[in-house]
Amino acid sequence: MRLPRHPGTLLVGAAATTLVVAIASLEPRARADSAPIPAGGFPLVAGAEARGLPPLPDQSPRIANYTIDARIDPDARSVQGTLVLEWRNSSEQALDRFPFHLYWNAFRNNLSTTARQGSRRWDGRTRGQDDVLGWTRVKTAHLLGDVEEDLTPSLRYVHPDGNEDDRTVIDLRTPRPVAPGATALFRLEWEARIPHGRVGRAGQVHDYLFVAQWFPKIGVFGNGEWICPPFYAWTEFFSDFGAYDVTLTLPAGHVVGATGRLEEKTANADGTQTWHYVQEDVHDFAWTASRRFHERRAVFDDPGYPPVEILLLVQPEHAHLAERYIEATKLALRAYGTWSAPYPYAQITVVDPAWGSASGGMEYPTLFTGGTNVMAPRALQSPESVTVHEAGHQFWYGLVANNEFEEAWLDEGLNTYMTAKALDRGIGAEGWGRRYFGGQYGRGGRTGWPVVAPDVWIPRGSDRLEGLRDEGRTDVLARPGWTYRSRHSYRVNSYDKPALVLQTLEGLLGEDAMVRVLRTYARRYRFAHPTTDDFMTTVEEVTGESWRWFFDETFFSSELCDYTLEVKSRKARPPSGWFEDGDGTLALKATDEPDEGSESEGTPASDPTFESEVTVVRAGGVRMPVELRVDFADGRTVSETWDGRDRWTRFRYTGARVVRAVVDPEVKIAIDVDRANNDWVLDKGPARRAATKWAARFMLWVQHLLELQMVMG
Ligand SMILES: [Zn+2]
Repeated sequence: MRLPRHPGTLLVGAAATTLVVAIASLEPRARADSAPIPAGGFPLVAGAEARGLPPLPDQSPRIANYTIDARIDPDARSVQGTLVLEWRNSSEQALDRFPFHLYWNAFRNNLSTTARQGSRRWDGRTRGQDDVLGWTRVKTAHLLGDVEEDLTPSLRYVHPDGNEDDRTVIDLRTPRPVAPGATALFRLEWEARIPHGRVGRAGQVHDYLFVAQWFPKIGVFGNGEWICPPFYAWTEFFSDFGAYDVTLTLPAGHVVGATGRLEEKTANADGTQTWHYVQEDVHDFAWTASRRFHERRAVFDDPGYPPVEILLLVQPEHAHLAERYIEATKLALRAYGTWSAPYPYAQITVVDPAWGSASGGMEYPTLFTGGTNVMAPRALQSPESVTVHEAGHQFWYGLVANNEFEEAWLDEGLNTYMTAKALDRGIGAEGWGRRYFGGQYGRGGRTGWPVVAPDVWIPRGSDRLEGLRDEGRTDVLARPGWTYRSRHSYRVNSYDKPALVLQTLEGLLGEDAMVRVLRTYARRYRFAHPTTDDFMTTVEEVTGESWRWFFDETFFSSELCDYTLEVKSRKARPPSGWFEDGDGTLALKATDEPDEGSESEGTPASDPTFESEVTVVRAGGVRMPVELRVDFADGRTVSETWDGRDRWTRFRYTGARVVRAVVDPEVKIAIDVDRANNDWVLDKGPARRAATKWAARFMLWVQHLLELQMVMG
């Protein structure tokens, strides 16, 4: 999923002169306006390089296999469905209790866990309009076999979170336990009312249907217990892999997109059409339909990669952006394929959501939703950034399917880190801009009139720092997704912080080792359910070193990282006092020169006789090893390293004057929340600092100027 970046608050009263100086001295890193996405530059891991990496599995464990037959009446907003679930007990335990998710009951009324947890948001989206709500009801449940057992009387709503009013999880009981290794066949008949598309991620807006989390879905049994929590307001999903065979019948005239490959499309005598989709080795199934979609097709066929058919379903008003959606999808397949393992499915479907739908920016197996705006300056990378992000989820959420209820960061963090890297390498830096008159700064920043600051570019990752700075202390990152203090904290700890932590890990490990970690992790855990421990173990295995300290400082911490420095230079004192001369006798030396003190004006910087102190200070609670680079007036440069364990350390130099000192000059420590204080420059310290500050405070000055310009006319 894609969550909007931290909106920030307006800083009023910034000095306009400082601002102009700062803008003038900014150096653009890349031209995003015209730069095409290069087709090369992301070599496939193959041959010798692939040796030593874990083998890729041919298929998933196929634990939960669904055959679904559903009839949809968009006018009545109804779904009538039957499913047969073939479920294999892969545990060591006999089981007679089987929980299923009924996600759409989150939208049943205002007492659901979702409604209560996100009450303001809920009220805003549903107020006074009961027809926006939706629900799911299981009509019958049977256990199939030699003797068919009716499980319907055993059906109970359960409330793992204690909310007795929630209806998003049911339990079914079987009369006899299902033995370890045995397979059970369940048949469920259900009906559902499709919610309005603005309430949740699924729903209907006019004729646009986005249908996800829509059928009764069994939980995951792991580590001796069922994992089947209620539908929380902000956490995502977790399911077992399987094969899906889905038949959808709906009125003729719709353009349909779905998880998997279309096997057959038939016209029925009653004016409906039936669409039949099949896909193995996925853990969910979503689909969309609209009469307005324009279809665009393309093929990703980079040498060495398995070919992938791309189907784009785009709103007619966004047809001019089709090529950008497609190129961004290819960029994701290329970049993520390189940095993890290639996409194994034959097709991917890109859905451009209808205006007013909340379905945008969300991932499902082999299908995802983007989101864009009619006015989409290239510099803002929309639809590119949301497209790369959601396509990128195929590689983590889709293929390395960790538990998103509990460890959302593992998917969103890896994905956000990799999205930024793919965009940076594939397109260039993102331009800085805002959209105005679009109401709330919405999902993916899609609404409003775009204003782009000329030649102001956002370096990779730095747009995530403001969230970390503001909310980083609210929670320890490594905790279940629904237990964060707020939606903001969920966002920071699932997206911003882990992305910056992983970028920092890349800085410390070096890119080659980092890519090897990710390839190993992606291959070993394809079609599996890895945990944070599995990720950390992979880092340690690949590097051959313990990185526990690093994870303790980041994943298991709510401290911030901030390094800064102080520089003092003074003219070296001429000797004055008693000194031993050549034959060992003491002689008095005196000098006429007054002690000019530090930072003496009028002394040329090239004067070779300076004594300098550079004090590196750890202002934050996070301890990271850092580098220091010191430049001297005679052109000499010295590099130092410090383990960052103490609160400060000091380096002393004699000779030419220090003209510049930078902590973390290569920006390895991406989690440093204030880069403005990392850089000291002789004589023009503050101005230079402003110029090099890319963080939010500076951006807000720019925003202030832009808003001023708009008000002034
Ligand atoms: Zn995401």
